[in-house]
Amino acid sequence: MTETIFAKIIRREIPADIVYEDDRCLAFRDVNPQAPVHILVIPKQPIARLMDAVDDDESLLGHLLLTANKVAADEGIGDAFRVAINNGAGVGQSVFHLHLHVLGGRSFTWPPG
Ligand code: AMP
Repeated sequence: MTETIFAKIIRREIPADIVYEDDRCLAFRDVNPQAPVHILVIPKQPIARLMDAVDDDESLLGHLLLTANKVAADEGIGDAFRVAINNGAGVGQSVFHLHLHVLGGRSFTWPPG
């Protein structure tokens, strides 16, 4: 896949406000937050879109969700947060390196716009 700005964040070539890291993923604050808490959880392994994940990625995808739980709890929003994944430009994906948006700290409407 084409390299993205998130690969540069993983390699520390550009700065980011990193809140969590382990061997499989990285979590950092979104540069254009849409809520008081807005963190992106990304795999270190480059997967462009959710739809590009394969059976071998099953454990990694679960790990990303559990990391979303952890960062939400660490931010004090563990009982009310939203996880969003934009899959494809048609729904707003702008960075083609899979990422979970973890959002909270304000009220949300449903359905999302
Ligand atoms: P999406 O539109 O779902 O692809 O989300 C991409 C997100 O990445 C947007 O919310 C951007 O604000 C965020 N973003 C882009 N560049 C950076 C960056 N250098 N550091 C942190 N967040 C970024």
